[in-house]
Amino acid sequence: MDKTTANALLAELLAGRMPDAHGRFGPYGGRYIPETLVPAFDRLEAAVKRILPSQEFRDELGAELRDWVGRPTALSPMRNLSRRWGAEIWFKREDLAHTGAHKINNALGQALIAKRMGAKRIVAETGAGQHGVATAAACARVGLPCTVYMGEVDMARQAPNVGRMRLMGATVVPVTSGDRTLRAAIDEAFRDWVSNPDDTFYCLGSALGPHPYPYLVRELQSVIGREARAQILERAGALPDMLVACVGGGSNAIGLFHAFLGDASVRMFGVEAGGRGTGLGDNAARMPTGRPGVLHGTYSLLLQDEDGQVQETHSVSAGLDYSGVGPEHALLHDIGRAEYMAALDSDALDCVKECSTHEGVLPALESAHALWGARELARRHPGKRIIVGLSGRGDKDMPTLQNTLLSQGVPS
Ligand SMILES: *Cc1c(COP(=O)(O)O)cnc(C)c1O
Repeated sequence: MDKTTANALLAELLAGRMPDAHGRFGPYGGRYIPETLVPAFDRLEAAVKRILPSQEFRDELGAELRDWVGRPTALSPMRNLSRRWGAEIWFKREDLAHTGAHKINNALGQALIAKRMGAKRIVAETGAGQHGVATAAACARVGLPCTVYMGEVDMARQAPNVGRMRLMGATVVPVTSGDRTLRAAIDEAFRDWVSNPDDTFYCLGSALGPHPYPYLVRELQSVIGREARAQILERAGALPDMLVACVGGGSNAIGLFHAFLGDASVRMFGVEAGGRGTGLGDNAARMPTGRPGVLHGTYSLLLQDEDGQVQETHSVSAGLDYSGVGPEHALLHDIGRAEYMAALDSDALDCVKECSTHEGVLPALESAHALWGARELARRHPGKRIIVGLSGRGDKDMPTLQNTLLSQGVPS
């Protein structure tokens, strides 16, 4: 993309004119849905436009984020990693948010909107179960019944999260169609909504899907960056040089980046799952090789083969293991406002070990991808001030860590 076009698109974004009336971020985004869902999406879009900016809603959300989620989350100087890596490393601690990750910011916000829209029930999809757990918790808090669709392969892999959801009163429905993982679960959740469009609210878990979800999720997650920006100015007296966050669908990253988009001196880095390597199907790195296409109702960069068939992906971290990426990230990539890198499974595991051993923080495998990005950047640019979006805690990953790091013995 030429510089003039890129600058014009960035100016639109900074002026708050993206997404546009069609839900577009430049060429990306939009709304690709079956005719039967159009009225439901129109209602949702109108409700979001009305409720999100209202003072009453903002007060209620703010109070719940404080009292129930535990916000603001800490911005922690990481002195040991700073010394080891030769840069000034700070963590934005979403691992300290209720249920252990940033996902609760979005689930709570959507549950409160559902309540105001008069919804009688909430449906959600989940892959590893983190969004399902956050949605089940938010539904329990606001008093709405909750149905979570989850591939049966994932249910077997993530049994503790299935139990957590059920304890909080959610109905977990096994999905036995398609790939029996996240992609099929999203299809089923949409199918449920199509057959119950009037009384059901679909709580979508990342900055993905048809308009207005990428916008709605970004707005609800932007609290991460607003807090981080105020905290670093107070603690360090200056802006960071760099932000680093992992990118699955892209919600924690866009949440951290958004408040800094207008700060031209702040570079932003998204880290995707490099998996086992660069082979087709071995990773979930959409930016370097993805091509534009439609998946789950949005036009964005996708891993697909020559015939446009969506590719299987691989990552050690379930939260990054998806063929598509949020449309706003695709735009930030094309205009060069954010840069993207990919961490291998082995890089992420190595960073789980380093961070746990030297800082006493067990990061989620997803977040460990961002840690690897920060370590790389520190080596290339010594002395810089870097905020890492620590999207979640690693307790959920213990079965994987048991089979990898721990079974090999953790070298010091
Ligand atoms: C789900 C998840 C992610 C990936 O989702 P995004 O929408 O890209 O943020 C990252 N980190 C953790 C801890 C997660 O649970």
